[in-house]
Amino acid sequence: MKKPKSVLGEADQIRLATDLIKLDARLQVLESETTLSRERLLKLYKEIKGKSPPKGMLPFSTDWFMTWQPNIHSSLFMNIYQNLIKTTEIEEIEAIIHAYRLYLEQINSLKMPEVLSITRAWRLVKFFDAGMLTTTGCKQCHGHFVVHSYELVDNYVCGLCHMPSRAGKTRREEELRTEHEHHAPVI
Ligand SMILES: [Zn+2]
Repeated sequence: MKKPKSVLGEADQIRLATDLIKLDARLQVLESETTLSRERLLKLYKEIKGKSPPKGMLPFSTDWFMTWQPNIHSSLFMNIYQNLIKTTEIEEIEAIIHAYRLYLEQINSLKMPEVLSITRAWRLVKFFDAGMLTTTGCKQCHGHFVVHSYELVDNYVCGLCHMPSRAGKTRREEELRTEHEHHAPVI
């Protein structure tokens, strides 16, 4: 796996890996964002979590981000992230961590389930970097939502303004929608 050039010293690498592990990042994220060896990362992971990291491949498809509930969560995260990138000088991975913590705060304050994992959030940013995904404005609430770059349309209506009739709405999602209407745009 290609290692990024990093100006971070070893202590900072360990701090970065620790932050990511505490947020439940998958091993692949740690390997791609730090220069620490796989062995050291495994050891660090076990020290912090008291168990080995889960095995298995990372999700590689953009489709998950387009489904109804994940799209709302992904859009919320991406708005926070893009705002951070615009207003601060921090590195991408630091912005991902910071934005993810802010996302968790918002979700917890609304008593919503955490739909977006840090690994998915990281993947989402990579899809944006690759130009596969982008955000577009909802013509009704003017919030910004994640869409496929090739699916950009002029009259986009978001999943909160246009709830699917059988979305299996939970009370919490209903609350989010209400919140959205009263303080638009939440996202
Ligand atoms: Zn909308």
